[in-house]
Amino acid sequence: MSEVKFKKIALIGIGLIGSSLARVIREKKLADHIAISTRTGTTLERARELKLGDSYTTDNGKAVEDADLVIVSVPVGSSGQVAKEIAPHLKPGAIVTDVGSTKASVIRQMKPELPDNVIFIPGHPIAGTEFSGPDAGFADLFINRWCILTPLPNTDEKAVAKLTEFWEACGAKVDRMDPEHHDLVLAITSHLPHLIAYNIVGTASDLEKVTNSEVIAYSASGFRDFTRLASSDPTMWRDICLNNKDAIIEMLGRFSEDLASLQRAIRWGDGQALFDLFTRTRAVRRGIIDAGQEVDAPDFGRQVARKHPEDLKK
Ligand code: NAP
Repeated sequence: MSEVKFKKIALIGIGLIGSSLARVIREKKLADHIAISTRTGTTLERARELKLGDSYTTDNGKAVEDADLVIVSVPVGSSGQVAKEIAPHLKPGAIVTDVGSTKASVIRQMKPELPDNVIFIPGHPIAGTEFSGPDAGFADLFINRWCILTPLPNTDEKAVAKLTEFWEACGAKVDRMDPEHHDLVLAITSHLPHLIAYNIVGTASDLEKVTNSEVIAYSASGFRDFTRLASSDPTMWRDICLNNKDAIIEMLGRFSEDLASLQRAIRWGDGQALFDLFTRTRAVRRGIIDAGQEVDAPDFGRQVARKHPEDLKK
């Protein structure tokens, strides 16, 4: 049982990540008071209906008053604005963190706005789904997932340890990186796969000789797995692309070169090159399963695939 506890945690943004945090904080009793703030009245009302917190407001500044931990869970392009709004209301000594998918740009936006008497520790839980909003969250989201913290030089180590303990209490494993390295790693593990998915689904929907209904009917042959990624939140992914531009462009360059050599191997009938690549990539998946980051079930463990289509309509 974890000892970590905060008197008041303020959650700014109550979508998939914010509401998952609210649920796990409540379940594990990690705070006496959960204050929730979000941009719109509609989302706030939904959070209230779901009983995600103890107090609710659309005023980010009001939410952080007296909070000893503030977690900003908004699209990365809004981090600077949120930092500006909360800055005058932060309690001295408060820990301010975020969950944004890019780190260098969040630091550039937030750090100059925040007062020196708070402890800013940027973070990113590597956990999510393609769904968004307060209904999408669940308390188990962070279990056995990594959370990367990117503390700035000279950050109070006690505060980093406390935040680490907090994430561990949420079920996560915690790692530390410098922000630029984080952005490079995530460009290949998350940002590039999403861009490939957005691109392939876009290409398929633009085809003239293969109809959309054929694409949908025969999607289980591979395409379907890209559509899950390609249905991710457009605002979040626009912001990620604009805020991790350099690392994404670097990875897209490498990807394009490798794709060109694959194309060449197919054109020249180089079966050995194809076989070698496909063997190497199979081992990568094995490694992910062995690390407990994916299930070993066929078809991603989709039970639903075994049901008769008529049953799915019920
Ligand atoms: P989401 O479900 O779309 O929720 C975003 C939340 O932010 C909503 O409650 C939204 O409020 C609120 N918001 C937007 N601008 C705001 C502002 N200026 N002030 C206060 N609240 C504001 O998004 P999410 O998936 O939770 O993502 C949140 C962050 O986590 C992003 O930075 C994302 O990069 C990161 N992240 C996401 C995932 C993932 O898989 N989804 C994984 C790891 C990290 P309204 O609804 O009221 O507009």
